[in-house]
Amino acid sequence: MPQMPPAHPFDDDKLREECGVFGVVGVQDAANFVALGLHALQHRGQEAGGIVSHDPAEGFNSVRRFGYVRDNFTSQDVMATVPGPLAIGHVRYSTAGSKGQTAIRDVQPFFGEFAMGGAAIAHNGNITNANALRRELIERGSIFQSSSDSECIIHLMARSMGRSIPDRMEEALRKVEGAFSVVAMTRTKLIGVRDPLGVRPLVLGKIGDGYALSSETCALDIIGAEFIREIKPGEMVVINDEGVQSHFPFRPQPSKFCIFEHVYFSRPDSILGGRSVYETREAIGRELAKENPVDADLVCPVPDSGTPAAIGYSLESGIPYAMGIIRNQYMGRTFIEPTEQIRNMGVRLKLNVNRALIEGKRVILVDDSVVRGTTSRKIKEMILDAGAKEVHFRIASPPTAWPCFYGVDTPDRDKLLAASMSEEQMAEHLAVDSLKFISLDGLYRAVGQFQGRDKACPQYCDACFSGEYPVTPSDMIDRGFEMKPAAE
Ligand code: SF4
Repeated sequence: MPQMPPAHPFDDDKLREECGVFGVVGVQDAANFVALGLHALQHRGQEAGGIVSHDPAEGFNSVRRFGYVRDNFTSQDVMATVPGPLAIGHVRYSTAGSKGQTAIRDVQPFFGEFAMGGAAIAHNGNITNANALRRELIERGSIFQSSSDSECIIHLMARSMGRSIPDRMEEALRKVEGAFSVVAMTRTKLIGVRDPLGVRPLVLGKIGDGYALSSETCALDIIGAEFIREIKPGEMVVINDEGVQSHFPFRPQPSKFCIFEHVYFSRPDSILGGRSVYETREAIGRELAKENPVDADLVCPVPDSGTPAAIGYSLESGIPYAMGIIRNQYMGRTFIEPTEQIRNMGVRLKLNVNRALIEGKRVILVDDSVVRGTTSRKIKEMILDAGAKEVHFRIASPPTAWPCFYGVDTPDRDKLLAASMSEEQMAEHLAVDSLKFISLDGLYRAVGQFQGRDKACPQYCDACFSGEYPVTPSDMIDRGFEMKPAAE
């Protein structure tokens, strides 16, 4: 049985996307395309993956496995078990609390049998009223088999009186609060839905006579599909032999796409909002340089996610760019069997300083975010050990002071450095010569909102920076989470 991927040395010091979804209809052996798509979305979740397919002769079939897509969904023997022209898939990253404790029954897609036929469903995001819904459903007789939010949707669909599966799904999703991009399938239809605020991404592509739905465009590229458009916030698309039908089943609301997708989650070769994520990250670096200049000799990225912003910072400031830190790409799972001694080596297993470049230099390090600050501290020590004269951190996102409840793994608020410290205190804590973050307005400008952030109605979800949650996290409030007071 494939092993679980090992804990990454940075796992507790980055926000992590918890899922990626992909679906294909109208091609032969759709599951093979889904496996490739999931492979391209592996950065959104490495713990486990699943594929459900439908074949007119063989009905529904599924495979769910722990571990990487490349280790589980590449053998002919496995892929032959999921035949047919229609398939959906999912990759997941476990939440902090459940890391390593997920049961295979929690791995999506989920399947439900209804009077009008079966349906499978997978989602990226988080249902913020899932606990309340689950309690209510259990009181009314539903029997849950997993701890996943998606199962709530299946049970709500089972209780609906809708005449078709898309009708039942619409009704179920109207009861759900939170951030969700859903990819689902019946025997003949591929269905995609984005929540009314469009917090999580979902795109539509065309492949031959068929169609694909994906969390990101980079996964369309890998299967040779043409990117058609983003699914709109609150939109439901139902795709079959006749083409794509679009509905808007929810009350229209202003869009609140996750601004952190631009900063970190999405792959730099994906397209978001009509622009490549790479270009946006370079623009973030330029804005960061305008807002926070410093006299120095080199601009170095913290690899890999800091790279485009570091290039932008260098271009704007005129300070030379250099690969001062090299990432070891091949730190495999066998090597990192986490004995205590190896764990303590932490960041050094993953990154090494290019001493010849760094020695005697004043170095600007560009990173995408500071979460707990543990990695930043270790990187700074490595740079100083290599003989740097000064270390200046420049961060391509504002201080992360609030947890995300919309499908992103974040430490509790008291573990977030910015929740209890000012910028100056963080610089002191990390013992660096300076530490500066891009402003929230600067980030909005860099992602294409040239007037900056609209305070009355922000154009994006930015709750992890601002504490202003566009969907009330009601389950978390029940568990004692305190929202930011309105006047703060
Ligand atoms: S809270 Fe942050 S990470 Fe979560 S959806 Fe909003 S912007 Fe994205």
